[in-house]
Amino acid sequence: MEVIFLGTGTSQGIPIIGSKHPVCLSKNPKDKRLRVSVLVKWEGNNILIDCGPDFRMQMLTNPIEKLDAILYTHEHNDHTAGLDDIRPFFFRQGDIPVFAHKRVLNSLRKRFEYIFTSTNKYPGAPGVIENEIENKPFFFNDLKIIPIDYKHNRLQVFGFRLKDFAYLTDLKSIEEKEIQKLDGVKVLVVTALRIEPHHSHLNLEEALAFIDRVKPERAYLTHISHLLGFHDQVQEKLPENVFLAYDNLEITL
Ligand SMILES: [Zn+2]
Repeated sequence: MEVIFLGTGTSQGIPIIGSKHPVCLSKNPKDKRLRVSVLVKWEGNNILIDCGPDFRMQMLTNPIEKLDAILYTHEHNDHTAGLDDIRPFFFRQGDIPVFAHKRVLNSLRKRFEYIFTSTNKYPGAPGVIENEIENKPFFFNDLKIIPIDYKHNRLQVFGFRLKDFAYLTDLKSIEEKEIQKLDGVKVLVVTALRIEPHHSHLNLEEALAFIDRVKPERAYLTHISHLLGFHDQVQEKLPENVFLAYDNLEITL
């Protein structure tokens, strides 16, 4: 399994438009972060987790020629706004399977009514195959996917475990029984928004404490704000098995 970090930034992306913050002005490519998303490559399948506003550029940069499924963590705009740009994949492959909580599918139907409609559909609109998921394991082809249920402030969010890889973005609080689903993961990806506490994301200290509980072989931090600091300076202070993710980083499990 290979994982590409397509985007690692918080909802506004880094740099923030018009910001004079030193991190936003940084020349280091690792300080430039598109909205969060990862691509999991497994046995010829390209599985996307979240499809945000930077999806098109992320597909061109890497470059990705085929899209087999989209898993959604939750309905916030930084995780969903790119759905229209699946059109090139749709034109070549047909309807693209999407997997999401019922509430998230309802939100997508409202935002992208022209994609989900079955009457008088515009010929250029993309098509999807809706798969409603609950908090229990499901399969995509032969790959078992285990949802991890947690809270982003008061909003329910799904993280996902795919074999030894787990991706938990937009996490603030999680119950013990959900943490147990992460037993034995080799690579854990988790939110670390910034240094100061935040109402809907783990900050750096909380993320490190969470990693210490799960004890993966390696952990990567994502959904990063400019307020976390410069990539290179933050990385120096992290434990030896914890890494700041950055855009276009590829890892192999
Ligand atoms: Zn987010």
